[in-house]
Amino acid sequence: MRFNTEELIRRKRDGGKLDRAEIALLIHAYARNKIPDYQFAAFLMAVYFQGLDPTETADLTRAMIESGRVLDLSDIKKPKIDKHSTGGVGDKVSLILAPLMASCGLCVPMISGRGLGHTGGTLDKLESIPGFRTDLSLKKFRAQLRAIGTAMIGPTAEIAPADRKIYALRDVTATVDSIPLISASIMSKKLAEGLDGLVLDVKYGSGAFLPKYHDAKRLARTMIRIGRRFGVKVKAAMTDMNSPLGVFVGNSLEVIETIEALKGRASPDLMQVTFALGELMLSLARIKGGRKLLAEKIASGAALEKFREVVRSQGGDALAIDDYLRLPISRRRWPVKALKSGFVCAIDTYRIGVLATELGAGRLKKEDRIDPACGFRIFKKVGDRVGKGEKLADVISDNRAYALSVQGRFGEVYKITGRRVKKPVLIREIL
Ligand code: URA
Repeated sequence: MRFNTEELIRRKRDGGKLDRAEIALLIHAYARNKIPDYQFAAFLMAVYFQGLDPTETADLTRAMIESGRVLDLSDIKKPKIDKHSTGGVGDKVSLILAPLMASCGLCVPMISGRGLGHTGGTLDKLESIPGFRTDLSLKKFRAQLRAIGTAMIGPTAEIAPADRKIYALRDVTATVDSIPLISASIMSKKLAEGLDGLVLDVKYGSGAFLPKYHDAKRLARTMIRIGRRFGVKVKAAMTDMNSPLGVFVGNSLEVIETIEALKGRASPDLMQVTFALGELMLSLARIKGGRKLLAEKIASGAALEKFREVVRSQGGDALAIDDYLRLPISRRRWPVKALKSGFVCAIDTYRIGVLATELGAGRLKKEDRIDPACGFRIFKKVGDRVGKGEKLADVISDNRAYALSVQGRFGEVYKITGRRVKKPVLIREIL
């Protein structure tokens, strides 16, 4: 049937409502390349400004799920629980949690995204491991879930194909930070996985898509409501994104940090968030042991072994786990130093994400290839003491022109005060 896309865009632009059939037509047509990017970008911008009500948001999620298939994993007898973050800077928690939770006996069918806006993406990070494939067929995805307990892939032509296209378009059209669009993007991927339960890491603070706490909480509630409509238990942790998480920002650098975490050598902030989310996943799966069990799986090497199995099974170079020189890493470091002594009272974490994109770690246009080897090492976080001339961060890049441009602006992201500053609470609330 022919339908008038322009009329639907106009109605949404003017604050009108779309019904379930109209939303489904739009989404399915775009997923099948029947609507050009320029029209769909205009629709996204209309939604960005006018929003969607709860019914429209649920209808959008449903249409995005129905653009592909819903997995039936009922033949796998383990609890099927996944985790997803609303997007952060330096957030590599999914990479740690998938093998860790599989080593605890969960099935984690993880469908993730690429870098989005100023935030990094699980798929781009994993693909920095030479050979690693995130485009497994459904058959292979299922077989790996059965054999290893986890697999990490992207939306495919079969599962959540609408999100794959819409996500890439939102990334470059300034239409990411919208509660209905984020909710439908995340929940369509996750509900297509055939889950028993889902844990959401909902970020607030300067590096989050929704920096204000009450907006982030509205996002969490929207996704919990969608989960309920579709019969999936959802828990959300509200976590701080006022500083990058962990010490590295950048694709292969974050893979190294993930491996270090699985070897028991991660920074405390990263492990605090990882364990909190892991505990929620265990509780949804009704598996006892909590944090003690998670710590044991890391100490015994079981979680690292799972990661090795995943890398091998998805075609990656598993030797890189013990020899980081096999990963693409830029050799040159460009230090960013403090201009005065004091305490870090604020970090513009959003700007760090933007600078990482400009350095090459993310995309400015849909067709851009990322540089997996570049990024930042962060030495100081909110609440830390710094001395004049001390390093705040290293810019890591072999591209001299990009590195100098980013290095020259990096210092501006730090605010330093003479007064002592309290370290932020990392996990503010569980919903
Ligand atoms: N993660 C997603 O998968 N989608 C969004 O829109 C934001 C974060």
